[in-house]
Amino acid sequence: MTLRFTLSFLALASSCVIAADGNKDGFKDTPIIPNTKWHIHDPDRPLPKVVTPGEFSVQEKAGTAPNDAKILFDGTDLKGWKSGESDAKWKVENGYFEVVSGTGTLRTREQFGPDVQLHIEWQAPPAKNSGQARGNSGVFFFDRYEIQILDTFENLTYADGHAGALYSQTPPLANAVRKPGEWNVYDIVFNGPRFDKEGKIETPAFATVFVNGVLVQNHTELIGDTVFRTASKWEAHGEKGFISLQDHGNPMRFRNVWIRELQPVDSGK
Ligand code: MG
Repeated sequence: MTLRFTLSFLALASSCVIAADGNKDGFKDTPIIPNTKWHIHDPDRPLPKVVTPGEFSVQEKAGTAPNDAKILFDGTDLKGWKSGESDAKWKVENGYFEVVSGTGTLRTREQFGPDVQLHIEWQAPPAKNSGQARGNSGVFFFDRYEIQILDTFENLTYADGHAGALYSQTPPLANAVRKPGEWNVYDIVFNGPRFDKEGKIETPAFATVFVNGVLVQNHTELIGDTVFRTASKWEAHGEKGFISLQDHGNPMRFRNVWIRELQPVDSGK
């Protein structure tokens, strides 16, 4: 561990506060999120209510994709994905793939956008640690907008880091994750942002997210990228982007991943 890393780690640890109402992590020395009274990762921001999702057959068997979807993982291999510039380094077994800690982000070979529907099923390992250290991953669009994946089953953490959060921006409307070892289903509609010729934001991104059939983001407007402890900002990028999954050091499992690029309705004009 370098001195610089040690010092920054200590600074980070010392600025982390625990809310008065229990074992909840968070920060008070971060910027205020625009149009809210909350700091980024504010421990006092109200937590999403817990909702027990309805029954799915998905626990026994992965679902299947609609026939016009691009299949990103069908249970057999990771040929549609890369780890950095190499072939995917995460492990495939028993119809799912699993994070191999330390191998880094998994990213699609192909780019998609600007508007997509993404389906992904995920499972957290047996609960170990707490807060953001438990069952953490995330789905990234355009390499910078994270829909948080986290084992928030009986796990207190800051609201804007819950499962289904637009990380560092907007908590989910409900905490609808299942317990570790059970499969969760995310269905996400992501509308990519549009930039003008000068690279200024013209139309922000929006996200709609269902967690296990429970709506947790209702066409929520993003305010820029989603970075730990950092104010969001827009930085121009192309109309298509990669889908990536976060290696946060936990052996998270994924299966039945598919995507549909969305086209506007034909106006007839
Ligand atoms: Mg994450």
